[in-house]
Amino acid sequence: AGSGKFFVGGNWKCNGTKDSISKLVSDLNSATLESDVDVVVSPPFVYLDQVKNSLTERIEIAAQNCWTGKGGAFTGEISVEQLKDLGCKWVVLGHSERRHIIGENDEFIGKKAAYALSQNLGVIACIGELLEEREAGKTFDVCFRQMKAFADAVPSWDNLVVAYEPVWAIGTGKVATPEQAQEVHVAVRDWLSKNVSAEVASKTRIIYGGSVNGGNCAELAKKEDIDGFLVGGASLKGAEFVTIINSVT
Ligand code: PEP
Repeated sequence: AGSGKFFVGGNWKCNGTKDSISKLVSDLNSATLESDVDVVVSPPFVYLDQVKNSLTERIEIAAQNCWTGKGGAFTGEISVEQLKDLGCKWVVLGHSERRHIIGENDEFIGKKAAYALSQNLGVIACIGELLEEREAGKTFDVCFRQMKAFADAVPSWDNLVVAYEPVWAIGTGKVATPEQAQEVHVAVRDWLSKNVSAEVASKTRIIYGGSVNGGNCAELAKKEDIDGFLVGGASLKGAEFVTIINSVT
């Protein structure tokens, strides 16, 4: 882990029922969490209120998406104002499932990030390459292009956490090696230093996501530029998620 406060997010994706979420919340409420870690969970929209009303205040809530501007005539969308009304502190943007399954592009994601930050909603900004892009030696190009889209849009980096999530590692059980993750984290930090500022590069937390679990988190957490994790599947299991939170070194 680096010098910033360790940050662990649990992305529940489109999973859960009122009952399963109530069990997960109760497991998290009774767990002992390392104090020096920011912990965030991201339930599906329809359960945000349930989770906010039952989960310990120690854990903050993130939405999994938001609209690009103020709410209004945008059927099916959820506004930043509504998320804040429910007590959300964060929103996950640019997740690979939204980029590659739903078809969101860099510019659209950048707009969302800019609006969320302008309203003081923190952003977990996801970037990461496809397997074919890695194999073609384009990992850095893709990550830098996605970073530039955020950089061109956002008013400030104060409330933004970057999540490096190689697409080939998400939900596949194929975790990046600590060295592979560290290599990209260093490159992204270097990109920030050259293209934004040395200060932003040193203070922005860069977390890793992609098949992180209770067994591989400790090795990843040792790396100097890995400032935490974004966890999908393993965040649905309370005890395992707690192991990952407490892997801070
Ligand atoms: C994610 O959804 O952000 C993720 C990293 O998923 P998983 O941990 O299941 O690979």
